[in-house]
Amino acid sequence: MPPKDLKTYRREVAGALSDRFLRRAMDNFAVTYRSGRDRVFAGMDVETLVQDIARLKSLAIGQIDSLLEQFKANAERAGVQVHLASTAQEANAIIHAIARDNDARRVVKSKSMTAEETGLNRYLEDRGIEVTETDLGEWIVQLRREGPSHMVMPAIHLSRHQVAGLFGQVTGKAQNADIEALVKVARRELRQKFFDADMGITGANFALADTGAIGLVTNEGNARLVTSLPAVHVALVGLEKLVPSLDEALRILRVLPRNATGQAISSYVTWITGATECTVSPGGRKRMHVVFLDNGRRDLAQDPIFSPVLRCVRCGACANVCPIYRMVGGHRFGHIYIGAVGLILTYFFHGRDRARHLVQNCLNCGACRSVCAAGIDLPHLIQEVHARITDEEGHPLKGLLLSHMLTHRRVFHGLLKTARALQPPATEATPYLRHLPHIFSEEHRFRALPALAQRAFRDQWPEIRRRTRSPRAHVALFAGCLQDFVYPKHLTAACDLLARLEVAVSFPMDQSCCGLPALMMGETRSARQVARMNLEAMAATGADHVVTLCASCASHLKNTYPALLGSNPALSAQLAAFAERVVPFSVYLNDILGVTAAEIRSPATSVTWHAPCHLCRGLGVRRAPLELIRKAGHRLLRAAEEETCCGFGGTYSSRFPRISAEILSRKLDDAIKTHARVLVTECPGCILQLRGGVVKRKDHLLIRHLAELLADVKR
Ligand code: SF4
Ligand code: SF4
Repeated sequence: MPPKDLKTYRREVAGALSDRFLRRAMDNFAVTYRSGRDRVFAGMDVETLVQDIARLKSLAIGQIDSLLEQFKANAERAGVQVHLASTAQEANAIIHAIARDNDARRVVKSKSMTAEETGLNRYLEDRGIEVTETDLGEWIVQLRREGPSHMVMPAIHLSRHQVAGLFGQVTGKAQNADIEALVKVARRELRQKFFDADMGITGANFALADTGAIGLVTNEGNARLVTSLPAVHVALVGLEKLVPSLDEALRILRVLPRNATGQAISSYVTWITGATECTVSPGGRKRMHVVFLDNGRRDLAQDPIFSPVLRCVRCGACANVCPIYRMVGGHRFGHIYIGAVGLILTYFFHGRDRARHLVQNCLNCGACRSVCAAGIDLPHLIQEVHARITDEEGHPLKGLLLSHMLTHRRVFHGLLKTARALQPPATEATPYLRHLPHIFSEEHRFRALPALAQRAFRDQWPEIRRRTRSPRAHVALFAGCLQDFVYPKHLTAACDLLARLEVAVSFPMDQSCCGLPALMMGETRSARQVARMNLEAMAATGADHVVTLCASCASHLKNTYPALLGSNPALSAQLAAFAERVVPFSVYLNDILGVTAAEIRSPATSVTWHAPCHLCRGLGVRRAPLELIRKAGHRLLRAAEEETCCGFGGTYSSRFPRISAEILSRKLDDAIKTHARVLVTECPGCILQLRGGVVKRKDHLLIRHLAELLADVKR
């Protein structure tokens, strides 16, 4: 299949959004997966288990060559032939040669993502070999001549009615759309294939160096038939599956099924050491081959930025929780490998052309990182792939302009002031752009866009600034562009409250955009430059804490600055101290200042909460804002999926407006169902998205920043 251009990709994505069955199936799955996962991990220290996997896999990746050597020696001693393929093409050729040498014309296969990566089925079929997938879901997608739409559940995108129709065509008889009946049809059709097969092909979840054994984790038992009935068994295994021993494999197994499908254990875990007796021709010797696939893995293992991606244990959880995957399914959210890890692996295994648009289809919401069995910082690596592609292909004009503006603060702020002067007057009552600029298409009209404020916060600062005689603390306020130029009211509310609480506030004028938009556009160099500017501006204040009312800025300042600037040893101490001092507004008030109910008691109202991605997952802040809402005397009504992204994602919402609109609509529906009067959040990006949606939909729901809510103190 040739690579797609952006227009085609967007059209396909839009098509997936109108597939009602897909949407319902994905919604049901997303909700049941989360509750199932929570249930099976209850009482377990998931973080420690994940850190353990990250550590053991990192060690294994660092020793791929020696583990391979050890595996080879042990497996060969047990009668297995071990091969190493440098490329996908070479792996296919080796397997074809094995089939030819054994006169194998019919192959049965158990599900293997590595075989999908190499395109093995088509390769063998083109050479006259019949290949039958024997995992139910994989067989279904094979019959439809399409790829899996999930790493663990390949046919999740299909309804039982679609499967009944398909089985009707295969068997020549109409089939009942009853799941049990359909499973029986598959069993009947596949049984003879197992007996007739000359060769079985599997993947492997583990390759144990100290014994030369492979481990297979499955739910249907078909892999046991594939490995035991035919006279020849070939396992195609990515080099990253090598681990030193059974001990490491068992530690991964504690997490793998729980994270993949919310099951405490898989139905079948099979360990195969060496070629055994042949089941179909007793006394005959079974022949077993293990083909290791490199396909760039050894280079990846040396890459200081991307090597963590090899820790992946293919549990598929990063797709299960991804809001984009939930909207469009795996065929539109990956190439062969899907979900967050798929966006990254596509670049390395299938090339830049396949990855170019995919890596832009990420909200940077962090949901994937929060469930990754191997503790991989997936959103960061997606951004890194985007940046790499941008560097390789040349920076688009949009990115260059943004970079120039952000790295020249005065030019940037001057432009914003000019834009404000040129925009049609916006009133207090309707502070929105009456007409969207021409660059926006019809698809962007799902939300009203706010006008720039008449006076930026930085212009109001000299009047707002309060002198506190004997302050109990001193903070520096980091505004971020949205609050400085669009929502200065959030900041003035915060300043009011902080003044009442006897906290001295500094606002360094040399601060600029946090740099996240530049990073999201693959402009890493500019992101680094503004990070340095902000670091200096904040250091000059000598404040105890750097407080920000924007969760995205807070997470970027605290988590990403050290990674962006960390290669400079001269900055490391300053960076560590800076990251330590950055706190979101809610944490500062609740946990550091310890405000009491009496200090923030407000006229009571009913409130529901939207947890910004960068606050709850980026910074792990969940308790502080809710405690503040309760302390202020409000009735808190919790919405379903409170922590799911609102669909803003900075520049994402203008790149993929239809997906953004769908996610937003669901978020607002959940908030409305609580019957709360006010929806509160702590990120101006979320406010822009949520308020814009409410205005368009004419919902009776007030959208407020936490600072605005808390500044309404009863006096
Ligand atoms: S960061 Fe969010 S949108 Fe991006 S891949 Fe991860 S879960 Fe999906
Ligand atoms: S990246 Fe993490 S969550 Fe995604 S499949 Fe791999 S181990 Fe699972």
